[in-house]
Amino acid sequence: MILLNGKETANAIKQDIAAKVKEMVERGERAPHLVAIIVGEDGASKTYVANKEKNCQQVGFRSTVLSFPADITEEALLQKVAELNNDDEVDGFIVQLPLPKHIDEDKVINAISPKKDVDGFHPSNVGRMVLAEEAFVSATPYGIMLLLEHYGIETSGKHCVVLGRSNIVGRPIANLLSRKSLPGDCTVTLCHSRTKNIEKFTKDADIIIAAIGVPEFLKGDMVKEGVVVVDVGITRVPADNEKGYRIVGDVEFESVAPKASYITPVPGGVGPMTIISLMKNTFRARELKLKK
Ligand code: NAP
Repeated sequence: MILLNGKETANAIKQDIAAKVKEMVERGERAPHLVAIIVGEDGASKTYVANKEKNCQQVGFRSTVLSFPADITEEALLQKVAELNNDDEVDGFIVQLPLPKHIDEDKVINAISPKKDVDGFHPSNVGRMVLAEEAFVSATPYGIMLLLEHYGIETSGKHCVVLGRSNIVGRPIANLLSRKSLPGDCTVTLCHSRTKNIEKFTKDADIIIAAIGVPEFLKGDMVKEGVVVVDVGITRVPADNEKGYRIVGDVEFESVAPKASYITPVPGGVGPMTIISLMKNTFRARELKLKK
């Protein structure tokens, strides 16, 4: 069994981006600039945004965090999005989700210029990804693709079972892996909460991408020998430690790992790949702007 080490892979990509930013700046161009909008006081959102900021600093990007109170109106938030769309000093920006209930998330995402939508959530980017055109692919599926590529995982002709059909993970990764490209060329089965007898599919899978948010759902007796397993799940479960919780994936590592040829750990697998993919998208946004 080989660990698909997201931390190491992300670090290698980080160094590559940092070197390219240095070159860019030495050429007299300004460094890429990523802006994150955060609304309210959600602890997890703050942690994610702080992590993104740290990564920006490490690769030499300029980073700005715009924090707004939870009671900001939808109109005011849309106004801010419009300003960022028109700000030439901003290459890409993200609106950290979830947003408070009184704000229509779709409306906000649709208002972001697709050229600055480095989260890849805008329908235009989703559509372009489906058509295999140049697009910002959302960070988690993009990160999974980079991880599979980095480890040279054979995907062509393989049966890939994706667990979960969310717009940010399950559906895009199912689409990417079914595309006529590498990684890709998989035969994909997409399972969700209405799927009957999930084991029937997982037992036949060469590759499993688990993204359902149910701790340790996938057990050793549900997979075949040699399977490649990518565990996207992140759930905090109470634990007797300093933090009072530990992070658990969707895969029961102890029982699945001995049967797997490759498997991601949680944490240290998909998580670091997600953040570095956002950095890659931001760098790409800057490059595309310079090409104009
Ligand atoms: P989500 O929007 O809640 O979607 C969960 C999906 O799993 C849904 O399609 C749901 O089916 C399906 N599902 C739930 N319970 C199931 C079950 N018992 N059997 C089969 N399918 C089931 O979740 P998400 O945003 O995609 O996130 C999934 C997990 O990945 C979460 O733990 C999240 O924290 C984690 N995550 C990690 C990263 C990272 O960077 N590592 C990034 C994003 C998400 P229905 O559609 O039928 O409801």
